[in-house]
Amino acid sequence: MDSISTSLDKPFPGMVATSVFRGDVMDSLQYFAPTSLEEATQLLGEHRGSQVLAGGTDLIVQMQIGTASPASIVDIKKIPEVNTLALSASGLKLGAAVAGASITEKPEIAAVYPGLVEAIDLIGSTQIQGRCSVGGNLCNASPAADTVPSLIVTNAVCEIQGSSGTREVAAEEFNLSPGKNCLSDGEFLTSIRVPKPVSGTADAYLRFIPRTEMDIAVVGAAVSVTMGNDGICTAARVAIGAVAPTALLVPAAADALIGTDLNEQALHKAGDAASEAASPISDKRGTAEYRTKVVGVLTRRAAAIAKKRALQN
Ligand SMILES: Cc1cc2nc3c(=O)[nH]c(=O)nc-3n(C[C@H](O)[C@H](O)[C@H](O)COP(=O)(O)OP(=O)(O)OC[C@H]3O[C@@H](n4cnc5c(N)ncnc54)[C@H](O)[C@@H]3O)c2cc1C
Repeated sequence: MDSISTSLDKPFPGMVATSVFRGDVMDSLQYFAPTSLEEATQLLGEHRGSQVLAGGTDLIVQMQIGTASPASIVDIKKIPEVNTLALSASGLKLGAAVAGASITEKPEIAAVYPGLVEAIDLIGSTQIQGRCSVGGNLCNASPAADTVPSLIVTNAVCEIQGSSGTREVAAEEFNLSPGKNCLSDGEFLTSIRVPKPVSGTADAYLRFIPRTEMDIAVVGAAVSVTMGNDGICTAARVAIGAVAPTALLVPAAADALIGTDLNEQALHKAGDAASEAASPISDKRGTAEYRTKVVGVLTRRAAAIAKKRALQN
């Protein structure tokens, strides 16, 4: 295992201290790069208060602005299991550190999970996608994280490891509040399992941002629907982002779609249910009233896109 213990003037090889720390937040930083899950578990158990580094596109920025100040960092990128990306008959196994670009460049994954892949493809820029992971997007616990609503509607399961063993948590239960996830100190996310959807299923994700790109969602909505041969929706999941402390599963919106052919009336009912479930804040990027309205519109539109895709499957 690589371990670098440095003083304040050189927290990382090649990194300038003054751009990392503001004030006297900490005076040293330990950096570990384990090569196995066991080593990572041991390090995170021994060095309480450590933070895991995957792509670093959130963590390094947070350290620079002083909102994160871990005593040590455990970089998981050298662990083979967290770099696994496998599509099989049972679904997608997505290692926690797999970079977004590794996923978006594979059309066979987008063919099965179009909404999840379009959410990943919205993150930042080409450069950001070369580093950022879906695992980091989830663990960062931003209510506006683009992939989380899609993980929820695709029934993703989060695989977690710590010194007391392994456990699994459904994507909709992973985040608890802004910046807080369900991981205990010493635990980390190893991978995300996305089950293979049944035939006639497709998902879609839409977000609203005031710019054309490089912005975080003011509102997001993901929908997955399963359409029967008779054109009737037999199953649905709807999740909304950036309009509550965490991304939310909205069963009432799904209920409005199931048993219908996703006609205008059903789509409007689903949109209304999404708006009703929202409890957004007002900030400079949008008022609560605006977000509440827009989440209904995006839910409606995402459901219509998911239906079209499902009928083509
Ligand atoms: C310019 C720019 C544009 C961006 N645009 C978007 C955007 O459009 N949409 C969007 O959703 N996000 C955006 N982001 C945020 C960021 O890129 C994503 O959230 C990204 O997916 C984070 O992944 P990462 O691998 O870089 O995470 P990291 O920065 O490595 O980690 C993020 C957090 O999760 C923790 N963590 C990471 N992996 C694990 C793990 N396996 N187990 C436990 N904890 C873990 C870290 O300790 C840290 O707290 C943007 C960021 C930048 C800098």
